[in-house]
Amino acid sequence: MRQISAKAAAIHESSTLAVSDLANRLRAEGKDVINFGTGEPDFDTPENIKEAAIRAIREGKTKYTPASGLPALKEAVCKRLSEDLGVSYEPKNIVVASGAKHSIYVALCCMLDPGDEVIIPAPFWVTYAEAVAMAGGKPVILSTGEEENFLLQPQALEAAITPRTKALILNNPSNPTGMFYTAAQLEALCQVCVKHDLWIMSDEIYYRLLYDGLRFTSAAALGEEIKARTILVNGVSKSYAMTGWRIGYTACEASLAKVMSNFLSHSTSAPSTISQYAAIEALAGPQESVEEMRKVFEERRNYMADRINSLPGVHCIKPHGAFYIMMNMSDLAGKELGGKVIRDGGDFAMSFLTAENVALVPCAGFGAPQYLRWTYAASMENIHRGLDRLEHFLKG
Ligand code: PMP
Repeated sequence: MRQISAKAAAIHESSTLAVSDLANRLRAEGKDVINFGTGEPDFDTPENIKEAAIRAIREGKTKYTPASGLPALKEAVCKRLSEDLGVSYEPKNIVVASGAKHSIYVALCCMLDPGDEVIIPAPFWVTYAEAVAMAGGKPVILSTGEEENFLLQPQALEAAITPRTKALILNNPSNPTGMFYTAAQLEALCQVCVKHDLWIMSDEIYYRLLYDGLRFTSAAALGEEIKARTILVNGVSKSYAMTGWRIGYTACEASLAKVMSNFLSHSTSAPSTISQYAAIEALAGPQESVEEMRKVFEERRNYMADRINSLPGVHCIKPHGAFYIMMNMSDLAGKELGGKVIRDGGDFAMSFLTAENVALVPCAGFGAPQYLRWTYAASMENIHRGLDRLEHFLKG
């Protein structure tokens, strides 16, 4: 019998598919659909980075590289982590993969034995749970609520740990909540991981996108004991508007890095060579464009959060980082909007899209069914138009 594997069959389809399918259909019908669904900067990749890639092609740098990345890129990663986060790594600790999503998957494959539990605070980026399952582990989801600013509390973490718990995944600042752990909050969680001898997978891909003058602390900067068990995940997608280049990286203790390198050597061989040269320029070249983009995101966040909170029936916590806002629609549950009774974020998303041509992400897949995710990685003009349409929609 030709059958697909049980492991593959268990992978869930993207929870945002129904909304994006309908958005595509409406667009094909000629409707002016505004999309707040995608998680990528709307800016172009900075010119100096594009030039570095073109130069690499012209200079014939188009062959395989070492499986876990070019030594020069690993040096650039170490320098950036040292300058920005005050953490010291050597190239032997760095593994470059084809995007941070890939880095996470590879790290999990190299950490988990079948049935190992991985704790994931919700609301969470949907890939974490799927990647844990794909790597043979068991995701253990811990809910957090608005009253605790969607931040996992150390007591809740402690209570969820079993003899099978292998790791905690933290995303700071978070997609989808935009929330941020201070150094003290982070340390309290990491100390629980030290006590129970867990890995800490710290996804810090949005660390350059923090607002209100807040300062970021990496989990790896909290002392040697915590650093030794931390797999720091990062990449160039978000900070440098490079989502399509597919370069992510991890920093972790050398023996895990070596195993990950072996894993990569038999799966991808190496990330795209041209993208690696572009990433060297992104990380080692001028950094001004990062701050310019950050400032624009902050202005958009201010407008979007204030406007949502001025409307009846919906509200949000003003996020501290990344480029997402979680809008709470629970006050509207059971009401009729756009000619449909709205029970949860999924109903809201479909009805809003049908009535007003605005695509949002329902957060059921992120573990938060009464919420919708907006992104402000969209032009200010579209943000204005999208929120005008929300105001109209909420009037029934
Ligand atoms: N982590 C988080 C929290 C993300 O939101 C994303 C992108 N949506 C990634 C990792 C993956 O980024 P990439 O694979 O593009 O590097």
